[in-house]
Amino acid sequence: MKAIRIHQFGGPEVMQLKNVPDPEPGPNQVLVYIRAVGVNPVETYIRAGKYPNATLPLTPGTDAAGEVAATGALAGHLAIGTRVYTSGSVTGAYANMTVCEAADVHPLPDKISFAEGAGLGIPFGTAWRALFQRGRATPGETVLVHGATGGVGTAAVQLARAAGLTVIATAGSDRGAQLARELGASRVLNHRQPDYLTEALEITGNAGVDIILEMLANVNLGKDLQILARKGRVIVIGNRGRTELDARELMTRDAEIRGMLLANASPGEKASIHAALRAGLESGAFKPVIGLELPLKEAPRAHELIMEPGAHGKIILLPPEAVSP
Ligand code: NAP
Repeated sequence: MKAIRIHQFGGPEVMQLKNVPDPEPGPNQVLVYIRAVGVNPVETYIRAGKYPNATLPLTPGTDAAGEVAATGALAGHLAIGTRVYTSGSVTGAYANMTVCEAADVHPLPDKISFAEGAGLGIPFGTAWRALFQRGRATPGETVLVHGATGGVGTAAVQLARAAGLTVIATAGSDRGAQLARELGASRVLNHRQPDYLTEALEITGNAGVDIILEMLANVNLGKDLQILARKGRVIVIGNRGRTELDARELMTRDAEIRGMLLANASPGEKASIHAALRAGLESGAFKPVIGLELPLKEAPRAHELIMEPGAHGKIILLPPEAVSP
């Protein structure tokens, strides 16, 4: 089969499409024939050698959608040919096929395309965990989704609206702002404008927002604390550097800053996330947003684009046709 291989850490150009042997599933694993792959920022950190525990050579990627090609002896819960999406991969998802632990392979409802299915695992899993497992979001609360235009943010707006929260979103472009409005944000602010967070405070009648989902904490965290309601929570999802804050802002509000890493979810929490996602996908309450589809060989371009401003949902890679097993 074809797969993107990384033999040395570095820039996007270290990713090359190669012929590699077909992987085989172990007893508790599933082989998935991949139709679409979701690109996530974490794969750029791994590729650059900035992520602990990554060993070379490697094939990046965890999020894919396709069909079950084979199952291990103890992993027979999904029939061969079942449409599925993945939320983890043992051999890497930037490929024609991937081996996954059985618990990381989930049925994909018919109304969700393969490209959309590849946009579920990390972004929707993260948004769900941030809002409900770490943020304790309840209907009627107000959430500010900081960076509502990317993979996690577009998922978070939809999940929050479906759960009865009021969403204030931020975007860095007019196109992104339009997208956030279409997904259900009641107000959209531009995070490149000075003082845009003052507007968020005004929108809540100076009561403040109950929850902030933060995609770039090193830029925003100190100011986030100034617009929190009493007992408000900031959930740190993304961070790319150090920051400074005034702890008094927390003290006077009984407020909390809570970190989150999707990989820290327990098996029970992961099962809960995917049960909730399945229900919302089947009912049509939410659907991943696809911004761009590229052939798998253009993985280097995808890694450049995902780090640029102007996000618009997910970037998806499409593997070349291979002989379906
Ligand atoms: P993405 O699709 O590349 O989107 C990046 C988002 O950040 C865009 O909405 C972008 O908005 C926004 N942004 C840029 N500058 C901003 C600013 N000054 N203030 C607020 N938002 C800003 O990435 P993603 O997949 O959504 O992931 C978002 C972040 O979360 C990344 O740092 C990623 O590594 C992290 N993450 C963490 C976990 C975890 O487990 N903790 C899981 C998944 C992702 P514009 O382009 O419109 O400016």
